[in-house]
Amino acid sequence: MQEHSNCLVYLCIKLINMCAHTTTPERPGLVGSLLANKCPRCRRGKLFVQSNPYRLKGMMLMKSECPVCGQPTDMEPGFYYGTSYVSYGLGVAISVASFIAWWVIIGMSFSDNRFFWWIGLNATLLIVLQPPLMRLSRTIWLSFFVRYSDDWNRGDIVKAERANKDLKNAW
Ligand SMILES: [Zn+2]
Repeated sequence: MQEHSNCLVYLCIKLINMCAHTTTPERPGLVGSLLANKCPRCRRGKLFVQSNPYRLKGMMLMKSECPVCGQPTDMEPGFYYGTSYVSYGLGVAISVASFIAWWVIIGMSFSDNRFFWWIGLNATLLIVLQPPLMRLSRTIWLSFFVRYSDDWNRGDIVKAERANKDLKNAW
């Protein structure tokens, strides 16, 4: 058990170092900007109209372009359809993380109900986290197509391919 926790602490420190390394005042970090739902081009402007993901009405409403650099957020009709892959991946990652945490802290056994308690807790966790996860998935999806640019303040944006207002919510 001790070895498990040592290994986890080591991994966490490694991850934090990796994230901190790419972060400077001029260049906000990737992970922080993704978690804060910031525009992937400038990592400064907010992508969503509402800040609070738990105000469910309109929680997925996005600005049509980044208020800081002008990067369009809707790249083509049905652009955010692929978000489901990201949100599936995040769900699996959270389940694996909570499984490992449960295993290290509480332990797993089929001779009692500990495994089923984990299933229940993990399901609850995923449901409660759903609103921020859905928004994070969109932010990550957009960041696959729109990379950070040091020239963001010189109007360097990725142009939307076939933007069509009528088809915006057609999928
Ligand atoms: Zn921006």
